[in-house]
Amino acid sequence: MTPNIADAKAKLSHLDMEQNPATVRNKSRDFFWYSPVLKDAMDHLEADFVINAKSEDEIIEILRVCYAHDVPVTMRGGGTGNYGQAMPLAGGCVIHVAKMNKVKEIGAGYVVVEPGAVIKELDDELKEKSGQELRMYPSTYSQATIGGFIAGGSGGCGSAAWGALRDIGNIKRLRVVTMEAEPRILEFTGEELHRVSHAYGTNGIITELELPLAPAYDWTELFVRFDTFRAATEFAGAATAEPGILVKLASVYAAPIAHAYFQRVKPHVTEDDHLVGLMVAPHNMDGLVTLLERFTGGNVIYRSDDVTWDRHPGPMYEFGWNHTTLRAMKFNKGLTYLQVRYGNDIEKVMAAYEAFKGKLHMHLEVMREGAGISFAGLPIVEPMDKDALDQLVAEHEAMDCMIFNPHRYTLEEGGRQSTDMRQLDFKRESDPKGLLNPGKMIAWDEPDFDYADMYSYKNIRAKPETAA
Ligand code: FAD
Repeated sequence: MTPNIADAKAKLSHLDMEQNPATVRNKSRDFFWYSPVLKDAMDHLEADFVINAKSEDEIIEILRVCYAHDVPVTMRGGGTGNYGQAMPLAGGCVIHVAKMNKVKEIGAGYVVVEPGAVIKELDDELKEKSGQELRMYPSTYSQATIGGFIAGGSGGCGSAAWGALRDIGNIKRLRVVTMEAEPRILEFTGEELHRVSHAYGTNGIITELELPLAPAYDWTELFVRFDTFRAATEFAGAATAEPGILVKLASVYAAPIAHAYFQRVKPHVTEDDHLVGLMVAPHNMDGLVTLLERFTGGNVIYRSDDVTWDRHPGPMYEFGWNHTTLRAMKFNKGLTYLQVRYGNDIEKVMAAYEAFKGKLHMHLEVMREGAGISFAGLPIVEPMDKDALDQLVAEHEAMDCMIFNPHRYTLEEGGRQSTDMRQLDFKRESDPKGLLNPGKMIAWDEPDFDYADMYSYKNIRAKPETAA
């Protein structure tokens, strides 16, 4: 199947097609470079053309033409994915949805919105018009789109209260367009949402979303200092689990992260201080302080409702989730990271903390899970090559710590290393030629892949210097 790029471009030339080669290159790239492994594998990749879609009708037209001409299609929202989700492995067309950003309806407890809305702008509008806010957002709040979050993200600020993005109830409805000779429009709710949420746009294009909302608060942001990593972790877990206290964000930063990488926090901590960053509902601050009094050695060094620091540290969510790694990489480009799940097991967290001292610096996010909580880790990893990273992953897995490997670009390797039959079955129905974001779903390309090594998509564009 050889794509007929020239004819497809000619048929779509009346749309808003990027003409500037530098813009085409920029819109072909996401945050893949966060991983040294992905940077090496993907830096050369570029789309053949980029279209800024303005409506669902335009999306349908692009998909119809690209289908007829065998042209791969990769969607792009804010381009902040750190797993290379939006990188066009086989080139082809990138559809940028930034102009599809209308908020269509705001009701009691829900919003209907187009996929290209920037999450912070959407949240600002919700707060202003209805006193409500999104349940959760990634720490890339001010750049990421809501469609990109649903298709490529997993949780974030708000997961301490509401769990993971794909937990039941956190998405209400998705409207999806298929990649067929005559694209269809489908509406998914309930179990069907799992077909396309966190599918990297490999089996359908999201053109409208209905999401649940929560009451908006002017969240109180805090840094709490502890002498030990265990005490910090126990407090963050207890605050998140306490039923009467509404916590939106609970991050744990082992020493010396705050001192080494948080510039505006540095004057207020030593290199031995372990820190908890929190966002708490303002009416629950009394409860939070009461809870803290039950823990020895913890003291509040910053409160956003009573600022004593000369320089404002900036929003709390921009310290947490993957922004911790970003801050560290500003000091040392060679640093990298992992994404780990420890479940609700503090002893497992502590065992990993002890086992990997010197190789990684612990950073945890506490999430709600079912009736309890769980610990997600985004530890900062000292500079190391692919083999050493693979070894570190294997050592975590040997300790029964689940890794969502951020040094892989496929859905499966960045997830649970198994086929999601709901996504695969829907891809068979919705994308019979396999043109949507090709190379990202192993189950489609190579059902018998055994995950022993890094998957290498055979149609990935070769680097120019190695191309025949
Ligand atoms: P993009 O990167 O543009 O796209 C993401 C994926 O979705 C791609 O596969 C793309 O093809 C697909 N896609 C985009 N739009 C559509 C559509 N309309 N239909 C179908 N598929 C589509 N992630 C988290 O979950 N939580 C975090 O807290 C978090 N923090 C981060 C911090 C940093 C510093 C960085 C670099 C990344 C972080 N991420 C996080 C990853 C990423 O920022 C988020 O997942 C973000 O929501 C992606 O949104 P985006 O608009 O940039 O999507």
